[in-house]
Amino acid sequence: MFYFTAVSKKVIPAIEGFFTMDPEAPRLLGTQCKACQTYFFPPERGYCRNPECDSEELETVELSHEGTLWSYSHNGYKPPPPYVSPTEEFEPFAVAAVELEREKMVVMGMVPKPYTHEDLKVGQRMQLVLDPLYETDEERVMVWKWRPVEGGGSK
Ligand SMILES: [Zn+2]
Repeated sequence: MFYFTAVSKKVIPAIEGFFTMDPEAPRLLGTQCKACQTYFFPPERGYCRNPECDSEELETVELSHEGTLWSYSHNGYKPPPPYVSPTEEFEPFAVAAVELEREKMVVMGMVPKPYTHEDLKVGQRMQLVLDPLYETDEERVMVWKWRPVEGGGSK
C-alpha cells in the first residue's frame, strides 16, 4: 500500500452548519426554541416543531459532546447516496444512536474505526469525534461520529 501525504488536503465539513470543525473539541450545532426550550438536531431553522408551541425563535446552540449509547446497529450494506464509501470496496461500519441527557434527544452517528459493533454496549458513554467521511485527492470531508469514551468501555 502507498499513501500520498495529506498535508495539502483541504479539510471541509460534509454538511455545512451541523457541527464545529475544532478537531480537539468538535460540537454538534443544534437549535433551541427560545419559548419552550426544546432542542433540535439536525438544526431546525424554520419554526419550533413542538406541537404545543408556535414560536419561530430558534437559537443555534452547541449540543452535549457526550451521551449514553441508546441503540446501535451494524451497517453491512452500502447506504444510498449521498453516502460515499471512503474506500473503493464498501466496508461495513457500526452506527450508534446516542442519547443526550440535557437535550433529551437521540443523535445518530457512524462509529469510527477501529471500533465495530462488537465494541458497543447499550448504556455505555460515548463521545463525539470528527472523522473523515471520505477523502478525495484534494479534500478530506469530515463528519461527526460517536466513539466509546476511553476507559469507559472496551479498547
Ligand atoms: Zn418551542
